[in-house]
Amino acid sequence: TKWTKDRIIADAHENNVHFIRLMFTDIRGTIKNVEIPLTQLEKALENNMTFDGSSIEGFVRIEESDMYLIPDYDSWMIFNWDVPSDGGRIACLICDVDTTKREPFLGDPRGNLRRVLDKMEDLGFSSFNLGPEPEFFLLKLDEDGRPTMDLNDDGGYFDFAPTDLGENCRRDIVLELERLDFEIEASHHEVAPGQHEIDWKYNDAIRACDKIQLFKLIVKTVARRHNLYATFMPKPIYGESGSGMHFNVSLFDKDGKNAFYDESTQDQLSKNAHYFIGGLIKHASAYTAICNPLVNSYKRLVEGYEAPVYIAWSERNRSPLIRIPSSRGNSTRVELRSVDPSANPYLALAVILQAGLDGIENKIEPPMPIDRNIYTMTPEERIAEGVFDLPSSLSEAIAEFEASPIMKDALGPHISDNFIAEKTMEFESYKKQVTQWELNKYLMMY
Ligand code: ADP
Ligand code: MG
Ligand code: MG
Ligand code: MG
Ligand code: MG
Repeated sequence: TKWTKDRIIADAHENNVHFIRLMFTDIRGTIKNVEIPLTQLEKALENNMTFDGSSIEGFVRIEESDMYLIPDYDSWMIFNWDVPSDGGRIACLICDVDTTKREPFLGDPRGNLRRVLDKMEDLGFSSFNLGPEPEFFLLKLDEDGRPTMDLNDDGGYFDFAPTDLGENCRRDIVLELERLDFEIEASHHEVAPGQHEIDWKYNDAIRACDKIQLFKLIVKTVARRHNLYATFMPKPIYGESGSGMHFNVSLFDKDGKNAFYDESTQDQLSKNAHYFIGGLIKHASAYTAICNPLVNSYKRLVEGYEAPVYIAWSERNRSPLIRIPSSRGNSTRVELRSVDPSANPYLALAVILQAGLDGIENKIEPPMPIDRNIYTMTPEERIAEGVFDLPSSLSEAIAEFEASPIMKDALGPHISDNFIAEKTMEFESYKKQVTQWELNKYLMMY
């Protein structure tokens, strides 16, 4: 059932919708929304809703500040929470952003992803699928409603009271997501205290990214109801596992068949799957800044916590950047394990797709898979096997991105330039900090 303008308006009336959130995502990955009352819904559905783009960091210059919001009818969704004062409901529409001249705005991450998807179609594929595995922490709030770092849960995560608190909250999150059309496949407590993961069935690229953005909103909203704060910060606690968001991806061809699957080969992976992996390996250093965009992201990408540190692929173990899960047929997929939940999903998927398509177009053969634990290899053994390190800091990652015309092209000059400028500033500001670690280590020694 495809939504039409009339169907959406009727559905809004039938369900007592009073407000509609027109949502889009900025370069940083933050969800923005313009909330309109029901009376304005028709105007919005006719693509006549404008907003001031200059109010959004890094979005537009002042002289081109009026932007149009173009709602995606298929994203129509009614939330299951009420407006407290009148019992009316809130719905949302996810939007693309057009310029005053009614052309796609080059700074819109969602619109940009469409551009890379067009290239994919030109190469003969019908869809790029993403199944994300986001992890997050649930933190207790203090009396003023601010998150605390007190997990009260000292490592053993089986039967402590705060963990139960988190588990109930997670069940409520799952129920809310199921009402909103997420096909939940698994939800579980993660390795670290207070850490959780929820997985749902994959979707094609745009829808999958929309769902990640909705997911974050719902997790945070439901957590608040349980007096908890949900954080997607990649590494909130020293000495514990950080939060990742593995990306499971696959290409389907024009007949809707999984283009990574080929039952006739030894590993049952197609030539194109190998080339796609080749592209992901080749461009790994260059797209890391987009998949791991925070100073803090690099505190997660360290040894000892199942997060990748080395650029390699494997069918068997979970230490390398890329793992090929054993399922075949329609679920043949490539799992990229570096991505963390602070990444803008639209940007991350654009660079990943571009990297993989470059592999396919240029028939890039990947190196041999590494089926042993890379952490136990010596540096000499790693060099011999062609295993290189991922960037180890945001500044290194930005430099690698900046030096890659192909990755910058995946985002276009507007987004690339803004991203580089903002992230350079972020790192410069971090560089000047004097941390508690330094005080502890040096103050009394010198
Ligand atoms: P893991 O073993 O790494 O924990 P999960 O089972 O938690 O993996 O998650 C697997 C994810 O991969 C799910 O989101 C699932 O829907 C998704 N997936 C399955 N088949 C495909 C496919 N063909 N393309 C993309 N994602 C897929
Ligand atoms: Mg999982
Ligand atoms: Mg699993
Ligand atoms: Mg996990
Ligand atoms: Mg995984």
